[in-house]
Amino acid sequence: LAERLQGSIKKMRGKGKVAEQDVKEMMREVRLALLEADVNFKVVKKFVSDVKERAVGQDILDSLTPGQQVIKIVNEELTKLMGGEQSKIATAQKPPTVVMMVGLQGAGKTTTTGKLALHLRKKHNRSPLMVAADIYRPAAIKQLETLGKQLDMPVFSLGDQVSPVEIAKQAIAKAKEEHHDYVIIDTAGRLHVDENLMGELDEIKEVVSPDEILLVVDAMTGQDAVNVAQNFNERLGITGVVLTKLDGDTRGGAAISVKAVTNTPIKFAGMGEKSDALEPFHPERMASRILGMGDVLSLIEKAESSVDEERARELERKMRTNELTFDDFLEQLAQVRSMGPLDELLNMMPGAGKMKGLKNIQVDEKQIVHIEAIVKSMTKAEREEPSLLNGSRKRRIAKGSGTSVPEVNRLVKQFDEMKKMMKQMSGMQKGKKKGGMKL
Ligand code: GDP
Ligand code: MG
Repeated sequence: LAERLQGSIKKMRGKGKVAEQDVKEMMREVRLALLEADVNFKVVKKFVSDVKERAVGQDILDSLTPGQQVIKIVNEELTKLMGGEQSKIATAQKPPTVVMMVGLQGAGKTTTTGKLALHLRKKHNRSPLMVAADIYRPAAIKQLETLGKQLDMPVFSLGDQVSPVEIAKQAIAKAKEEHHDYVIIDTAGRLHVDENLMGELDEIKEVVSPDEILLVVDAMTGQDAVNVAQNFNERLGITGVVLTKLDGDTRGGAAISVKAVTNTPIKFAGMGEKSDALEPFHPERMASRILGMGDVLSLIEKAESSVDEERARELERKMRTNELTFDDFLEQLAQVRSMGPLDELLNMMPGAGKMKGLKNIQVDEKQIVHIEAIVKSMTKAEREEPSLLNGSRKRRIAKGSGTSVPEVNRLVKQFDEMKKMMKQMSGMQKGKKKGGMKL
């Protein structure tokens, strides 16, 4: 799709107002993309007509081409369709907050239980208790217990001879006693929605009064996900959705449909099998993903609002010619930080996920203090010509900055990678908007 859209964008360049014909042409591509991504066709139809209405005849902002303007509207409307703002997990007035994980077998409930517990502990400083309430699937309890061991996270289990309702009940009591502030109940699934399952989930719900019932949906199941979501919602009243397996090559159209039929927010996205592969769901990013173009626009917006124009031009030139120095690097870090967390920023770049070595430039905020110290311990010549940095110079710098040689080495490596990345980024911008993203 990205290619096709770019064709349409090119055609539209150099006009002053968004013309109906242009919009029509672009929206045909958008429509196809949405259908290809498995979005329900009624949803697509309404969406396309909404966007057309909004786009035609609009004055084109100085800073954008008509094509970019239409894409901006498409992006905004798509974002709205998926809930607009990012939606957070509930917190009970009085702890513990009780979260029930529900969904079909294989959707990722157990995996997500572990991920969510880890997320709550790492990002919110909580102390969750995981509850093994799937007594039917062979080895389900073992699976959660193994996860618990790996993550050093407590698991409540009463084996498979006690009813899930009773397990849930006792788990809450235990959580209160041990002052856990979240209880995450991993329930059983079935291959299809069935009455026994719903009855049992309903009973658990009655007993534990959950603050959050999260429906775990496999994003790869496309249109099926819609029926599942509808069923669970009608029967249980879900409060949110976790969309798993978004790391695959699914376009994620299910995200739109699921949100549309349940009218509950998608709260998290599962991005892999590992326990740290859970992300808060960002409607805006998902919109871009569905359109296959990365968050180019928001990145442009962010960059423009916080980077000084003059200086940016200078930097852009340096990046192109590969003359970046450590002083630029320092300044760059400061600017990038003023835009928001670095890893978030990197995520917004199209193709960034695939870039090699990206992990190494994820900069911890605390590290930045060290980086500053290291750069400041370099001589002017060293800052401008990193290749000067040999072993003895590195030892001197490490000593001067109160760090270590491995830290200095790491910085040099990060610097190289940043340089490479910036070169790619400035290349990527070529042929886009005049004076576009100047990072
Ligand atoms: P449950 O039956 O709903 O409890 O599903 P499980 O948690 O046991 O997960 C089923 C399979 O899906 C396992 O092999 C998981 O590793 C895998 N899985 C779960 N979430 C994700 C995800 O976000 N990405 C990928 N690639 N695999 C996932
Ligand atoms: Mg399970």
